[in-house]
Amino acid sequence: MWERIQEKLGILADAAKYDVSCSSSGSKRTNHNKGLGNATGMGICHAYTEDGRCVSLLKILLTNHCIFDCAYCINRKSNDQKRAAFTVQEVVDLTINFYRRNYIEGLFLSSGIFSNADYTMERLVLVAKKLRTEHKFNGYIHLKTIPGASPELMHEAGLYADRLSVNIEMPTEQGLKLLAPEKNRADMIHPMKYLKGAILQNREDKKTIKSTPLFAPAGQSTQMVIGASNETDWQVLQLANQFYGKMNMKRVYYSGYVPVSNDNRLPVLGTPVPVIRENRLYQADWLLRFYGFNVNEIVTTEQPDLPLDIDPKLGWALRNMNMFPIDVNKADLWLIKRVPGIGIGSALKIVAARKFRHLTSDHLKKMGIAYNRAKHFLAGDRSIYPQKENTIEQVRAKILAECDSKYKPVLSSQMALF
Ligand code: SF4
Repeated sequence: MWERIQEKLGILADAAKYDVSCSSSGSKRTNHNKGLGNATGMGICHAYTEDGRCVSLLKILLTNHCIFDCAYCINRKSNDQKRAAFTVQEVVDLTINFYRRNYIEGLFLSSGIFSNADYTMERLVLVAKKLRTEHKFNGYIHLKTIPGASPELMHEAGLYADRLSVNIEMPTEQGLKLLAPEKNRADMIHPMKYLKGAILQNREDKKTIKSTPLFAPAGQSTQMVIGASNETDWQVLQLANQFYGKMNMKRVYYSGYVPVSNDNRLPVLGTPVPVIRENRLYQADWLLRFYGFNVNEIVTTEQPDLPLDIDPKLGWALRNMNMFPIDVNKADLWLIKRVPGIGIGSALKIVAARKFRHLTSDHLKKMGIAYNRAKHFLAGDRSIYPQKENTIEQVRAKILAECDSKYKPVLSSQMALF
């Protein structure tokens, strides 16, 4: 019996590794001594696979059977591979057992589509329901929803899961039509809209009636596969930006296409998307969400792809050298945040500290900024190294030479500040 479960675990955990949206930030579910565990905003256990993907220790599919045949997916029905399916009770038992042993702090559950969307979604919801109601489980639960599932099931899922996600799959509608013709973009957009409304309503309700049950307190997220179709980074980031603005999306994840088939609809047959492209998209995403950039400042229709050798913030600064050098003792906060090498935390420290003294390069270095990058964009007095005699290409070359390690691929989770 246990051997069979282990075998399923091997198959279904492996099949889940292509899903990159596994962070647990944003949920607070407190245990009042009557249940098992807590979900906090600090994240569930993560592991890093060889290619740098972040995976949680219990990140599994309910099944890798699927009635669909999406070209980019290892689980598509035409793929000749070992199939398996957990029962609802098996997933519940595994979660509880692993949780009690402190192997995991939550569950990330996705699935291929068994026979139709509702049939599959019902089972996903049942796992979460059993964990919450029978086992009083307070750990983090992230459920992937099945496109086309009924609003009633989506609602029930929100009552038990911390986060729900609806994968948009392809950045463009043409890409979806080409590579996943059985899917319909409306089946993804409608549930996103529903979730947005239900999450906002729940927050309002909780303000007036504290006992209102939680509904997806960690919000919703989505994921798109990058590089399986010929979309540009501009298209990817425009869509992500719309999701953040219109759908209140907590996170958009970018999953570089990993060649898993010889399907001739795939334009880049056999070519994996470089991890660095994923990294650059996450960096650009960070600029959109926290640094006040808009998409057209990062990429344009004329230059629609992010350069791979430099990060998008440096790219913007080099294209806008007319705005530099700046004097950190006088510049506005929004502009200080845009200096390559100065993150949000350091920018806030600079603005706070300059109220009390004139800041020099020594002060800046002590604040933890990446001074080798930042110095090319800073001026003010002699102690802050004016460098304006350099051409854009010289600055670019110097920074690349001085900060070589910073421009190598890094894990998305390590890119909070740059
Ligand atoms: S529906 Fe999902 S699991 Fe099925 S083939 Fe498409 S992407 Fe893969």
